Amino acid sequence: MKPKVIISRCLTNCNCRWDGEVIHFPAIRQINNYFDLITVCPEVDIGLGVPRKPIGLFSREGHIEVEELDSHVVMTEKVKAYSDHFLEQFPRVHGFISKSKSPSCGIKNVKILTLNQYILSTTGTGLFARKLLNSLPCIATIDETGLLVPEIREQFFTKLFAFFNLSKANTNISDLIKFHSQNKYLFMAYNPQKQKEAGGIIGTNQHNDFNQLFCNYSLKVAEILKDAPSVSSNINVLQHLFGYFSKKHLTTHDKQSFLNSLTMYNANKIPISEIKAIIRKWAFKYSQNYLKEQSYLQPFPAELLSCV
Ligand code: SF4
Repeated sequence: MKPKVIISRCLTNCNCRWDGEVIHFPAIRQINNYFDLITVCPEVDIGLGVPRKPIGLFSREGHIEVEELDSHVVMTEKVKAYSDHFLEQFPRVHGFISKSKSPSCGIKNVKILTLNQYILSTTGTGLFARKLLNSLPCIATIDETGLLVPEIREQFFTKLFAFFNLSKANTNISDLIKFHSQNKYLFMAYNPQKQKEAGGIIGTNQHNDFNQLFCNYSLKVAEILKDAPSVSSNINVLQHLFGYFSKKHLTTHDKQSFLNSLTMYNANKIPISEIKAIIRKWAFKYSQNYLKEQSYLQPFPAELLSCV
């Protein structure tokens, strides 16, 4: 079983763009190996041809409408109905890779125009993407430009695999408790307060309807993963993990070397993955089984980091 990811079809070597151009997106080969991809092209799927007249988001009396740029033919209801129907078919999806700036697929930075085509804002969201974000709170999103930035890519894969693993724990309380335990340090790095609240949902509601509990817990996980962890939050967690080994197993040299690594990470001179690798190595060397299973130390298959 692989994570299910919706992807804008024009990122899959398909010539479905308005001008018939094919986008060069080499990452698709690697991505294809790790995910079950579900392609979507709202514009072609509602019956617009290739090539077609370009469309855009327009602000009309306080509403955002999808319209042809030249003729102002309005397509909002068609795209909305299509999006609802599409999303109903895929209630359990873990990620969305979107084409940036598209009035249909763009998750952010989409232009919103006035009727005479002045740019009113560049912070819009494409109509299909907006529907998706509203109906699927537990989904990781990125566009093809974000995939080129290592930190953004890493956050995307981390969230994607967290939601994927969460969806596998949706049948009984013991699997959910195990999931919570294996993600303890990941959640602590993202948001320690909400991590405790998630634990509270499991702890206080174990005898209630499991589906409701799972739904409440999932929404809390989405809140936890909303913003990337800060450097100080990561350092706090890394120091915590260091504590598993520092007294019993490590030499003075090991300890000093680790603390130096933390200083270098804090100064943005080394990536966090280097420090996680040290902890992981110790977890295996000293048979620290609880840490071996922590998603924080390896939130997704390492090969994905070099997929682009
Ligand atoms: S951005 Fe979306 S709607 Fe536009 S061509 Fe690509 S898949 Fe189709």
